Amino acid sequence: MSKTILKAEHINKNFFDGDQEISVLKDVNIEAKANEFIAINGPSGSGKSTLLTILGALQKPTDGSVLIDDVDLYQISDKKRNEIRFESIGFILQSSNLVPFLTVEQQFILQDKYRKTKPNYEEIDNILKDLGIDHLKNKYPNQISGGEKQRVAIGVCLYNHPKIILADEPTASLDSEKAYKVVDILRKIAKDKNNTVIMVTHDKRMLAHCDRVYEMNDGVLVEN
Ligand code: ADP
Ligand code: MG
Repeated sequence: MSKTILKAEHINKNFFDGDQEISVLKDVNIEAKANEFIAINGPSGSGKSTLLTILGALQKPTDGSVLIDDVDLYQISDKKRNEIRFESIGFILQSSNLVPFLTVEQQFILQDKYRKTKPNYEEIDNILKDLGIDHLKNKYPNQISGGEKQRVAIGVCLYNHPKIILADEPTASLDSEKAYKVVDILRKIAKDKNNTVIMVTHDKRMLAHCDRVYEMNDGVLVEN
């Protein structure tokens, strides 16, 4: 039995729209173990991204708790929470968010600058090979396709060794063949690298590849 890595309980999130309070997440509970590849499916505006940012230590819930390895993210100092995010959490977004004036390899080395570590060129090469994009090492983002950019973004994320990978609509801008490839890579990462991967998507075709699927509707999350 794999270890529970992330556990969110009774998450509520309200936003103020003028003086009107809107409830975007309603008593949400979700749990994820090492090696699991989980999907959160639901229509646009249902609260998926809001939940992902709360799970990823980016935004406080109105109430409820998020435990990562039994530490409650929102009961510790901002500094500690930022450290946990930096050490343990990786984000993959719909648009790959690569730096336009850096080559593929330099995108990785930028992470070393943030971390104040020496580049591990062997590891970068291995990641690029695993993702089938080692021939793109010296290309700039505008010289490669959308699917390739998304693979680079996944590679950069892996180079940081996050335990938890949160992917927000990572296939939304890709055609289905490329989308399947990206989902397949995310699945492999969960299985081979002992990671937890949570993917938000509104594309039902991607769900067959996931271990468990949650459905979000109007801020209410249920496991399928
Ligand atoms: P999804 O990712 O499922 O499309 P979101 O989590 O982005 O949904 O948004 C859910 C709802 O919360 C939307 O109605 C959105 O307008 C609202 N919302 C999200 N963030 C904020 C915010 N910072 N302030 C006010 N409303 C917000
Ligand atoms: Mg969203």
